[in-house]
Amino acid sequence: MDRPLPDIERLRPAGGKRSSKRDRILSTFVRQEGHLSADDLCDLVRKEDPGIGRATVYRTLQWMVGAGIARKVDFGEGRSRFEPSYRHPRHFHFVCNTCHRSSEFLSSDIESFVEEIALARSFTPAQTVVQITGTCEECRTGRASAPVDGATTALVFARDALRVAIATERSGLEFYTRAAGLTSDARGRSVFQKLAGEEREHLGTLEKRYAELVAQDPLLESRPTFLFFKGAAHGIFAEGTETLGRGVDDQQALLIGIKCERRSHKFFKRYGERFEDSEGKQIFLEFADEEKVHLDLLIHEYRALGERLGSPKPARRAHGKAHRPVHARRRESSARTR
Ligand SMILES: [Zn+2]
Ligand SMILES: [Zn+2]
Repeated sequence: MDRPLPDIERLRPAGGKRSSKRDRILSTFVRQEGHLSADDLCDLVRKEDPGIGRATVYRTLQWMVGAGIARKVDFGEGRSRFEPSYRHPRHFHFVCNTCHRSSEFLSSDIESFVEEIALARSFTPAQTVVQITGTCEECRTGRASAPVDGATTALVFARDALRVAIATERSGLEFYTRAAGLTSDARGRSVFQKLAGEEREHLGTLEKRYAELVAQDPLLESRPTFLFFKGAAHGIFAEGTETLGRGVDDQQALLIGIKCERRSHKFFKRYGERFEDSEGKQIFLEFADEEKVHLDLLIHEYRALGERLGSPKPARRAHGKAHRPVHARRRESSARTR
């Protein structure tokens, strides 16, 4: 598969000399699976153009690291390897002890686990390196799986981002369909029906986009999974649907919807913002926006329903001044003494 290189013109340092040698080294590097040692890159470049010296390749590699095009990785072999970092999402590695090839993945569950522990230890993490060594499928069974190389990484990433978005949309559709069936308040019911309709429409759009993506690469569906977003992939709304099944009133149904949309919006926004520029990033950010619209609508409806019922938060309204929580009164009096 031959895809155009990303804006190499822009990658050149300001005032940097146009160098066809540098361009050739750069394009050889970006087209590879990544994780090349400097010697690997030398061999590849010199196969195409024996006129390029080793020193030039090493120099260019250093420049690429400085310019944010390449990232240095250490697989414990006593020498560094280099992988493309420009528009390449951060990731973890499986490294095969036999063939020394590596494959990449990203797991939101590992990341949030690490964040949770770091928070508990008051540690500010700068970088998480996860490297798992072992034996790859090909070395173990002789069966080669479809590779993910420099040309296909972006497609695989977009494919997985779409899969996560589609799973979320599906679980949302199920949730709103169920909620519409359960809600007795006519206006509340029509809101759930409207949202179910929107989820169905978005689902259609996402599936079409997925089909277009797959059409770009006949092997795309068989390439290994890159994004492991277990929680989201199982559907952020699945838990909410389960709660609905246990029996809830109209207000509770809306609250569960709000909780799910908020979680979904936060999840897609947070990851979308952290990803490198890519179609996968776009997919996440667009999805986050859609979820925000749903969230706002639900919050609005929750308030409106509360007003129709006459007491949105009975617990608070019932309490007079004398019954306000002690900490609230304490805060007031300390404010007065200041
Ligand atoms: Zn192997
Ligand atoms: Zn890598």
